[in-house]
Amino acid sequence: MKKVLITGAAGFLGSHLCDRFIKEGYHVIGMDNLITGNLSNIEHLFKLKNFEFYHHDVSKFVHVPGELDYILHFASPASPIDYLKIPIQTLKVGSLGTHNLLGLAKAKKARILVASTSEVYGDPTVHPQTEGYWGNVNPIGPRGVYDEAKRFQEAITMAYHRYHGLETRIIRIFNTYGPRMRLNDGRVLPAFIGQALRGEDITVFGDGSQTRSFCYVDDLVEGIYRLLLSDFAEPVNIGNPDEISMLDFAAEIIKLTGTNQKVVFEPLPKDDPKQRQPDISLARKLLGWEPKIDRAEGLKRTYAYFKSLSPDELYKKEHNTFEGYIVK
Ligand code: NAD
Ligand code: UDP
Repeated sequence: MKKVLITGAAGFLGSHLCDRFIKEGYHVIGMDNLITGNLSNIEHLFKLKNFEFYHHDVSKFVHVPGELDYILHFASPASPIDYLKIPIQTLKVGSLGTHNLLGLAKAKKARILVASTSEVYGDPTVHPQTEGYWGNVNPIGPRGVYDEAKRFQEAITMAYHRYHGLETRIIRIFNTYGPRMRLNDGRVLPAFIGQALRGEDITVFGDGSQTRSFCYVDDLVEGIYRLLLSDFAEPVNIGNPDEISMLDFAAEIIKLTGTNQKVVFEPLPKDDPKQRQPDISLARKLLGWEPKIDRAEGLKRTYAYFKSLSPDELYKKEHNTFEGYIVK
C-alpha cells in the first residue's frame, strides 16, 4: 500500500485530498496544526485503519516514521483575512514549512507536490495567466506575506529538484470552492452565501468589476491527482477559466439563495488583483485535464453544504486559538 503524507489535512482542500487518496487505496497520514482548519472535516476518516493524523506545526521539524511514497504540502492559511491576521505564520509555513517537507521528501526518497497559487502572478498584467508569466507582486504590501512565501516555496522546490534531483511537482491553484470552506473565512463565496443566509447585505469590494475564475473542488482534486502521477516538475496552472466579475457573482448568489439581499459597496482591499483567469493549455496537454463541473452545478452543491450547517456555525465569528494567539 502506497503511503502519502498530506499537510493541511484538516483544511478545505487537504480534507478533500485525504478522501481522494483513501478512495484510491493509499495509506494516508494527515498533518495539521488546526490554525485555520477543523477536525470536523476529517473526523469521518479516524475510524479507518489506513488513516492516521498528526497534530503538528510543519514550520517545525517534521518527523514521520517509516517509508513515504508521496508528500502533498497543502498547509498554509489561504484566505486573505487569515493571512492578514497571521502574517508571520503564513510566511513561515510557506518557507520553513516547505523546507522541512522537502528535507523529509529527500530523506524518504518521496515525491513531493507543493500547493502554489495564482497569487504568484499578483495583480497580473498578462491575461489570461500562463505559467510563463513571472507576475506582478508587491513584496511589501499586506498580501505580500502570502504571495512571497509561495514564490519562495516555488524557488526552493525547484532548487531541491535541480540540486538534489528530488521528484517535485508544483501546482498553481486558482480560486477553488466547495463544501468544507469555512463560512467565516472571508473568501468571497462563503462571505456572500453567509450574508445571504443571515439576511445581511452582500458586501462587494470596490466597484465589483474585478474578476475571478472559480473552480469546483472535485475538478481541482482530479487535477492534483493527475499532476502528482505525471513526470512534470515545473509549475502547472489548475483552475476553471470561466471568469466572472464580483458584481455579477453577487447577483448569481442572490439568485441561487432565492434571497432579496441588497448589494453594498465597500472599499477595495489594497493590492486586490483586478483580473484573474487561468490559461490551462498546459494542463490540458500534459494531463488531459480540464474542469467538468460548471459554476451553476458547483454552486448548487456548495450551497446545499452551507445550508446544512448549524445556526452556531452560521453566526460564528471567532476563529481558532493557536499557541496562545486568538486568531480572529
Ligand atoms: P485552509 O485554511 O482551509 O487549509 C489550510 C490548512 O493548513 C488548515 O487546516 C490549517 O490549519 C493548516 N495549516 C496552516 N499552517 C499550518 C502549519 N504551520 N502546520 C500545519 N498545518 C498548518 O485553506 P485551503 O483553501 O484548503 O488551502 C490549502 C492550500 O491550498 C494552501 O497551501 C493554499 O495556499 C493553497 N491554495 C488554495 C486555494 C483555494 O482557492 N482554496 C487557491 C490557491 C492555493
Ligand atoms: N470580495 C468582495 N466581497 C467580500 C469578499 C471578497 O467583493 O465580502 C472580493 C475581493 O475584493 C476580491 C474577490 O472578491 O476581489 C475574491 O476575494 P477572495 O478573498 O475570495 O480571494 P482572492 O482571490 O482575492 O485571494
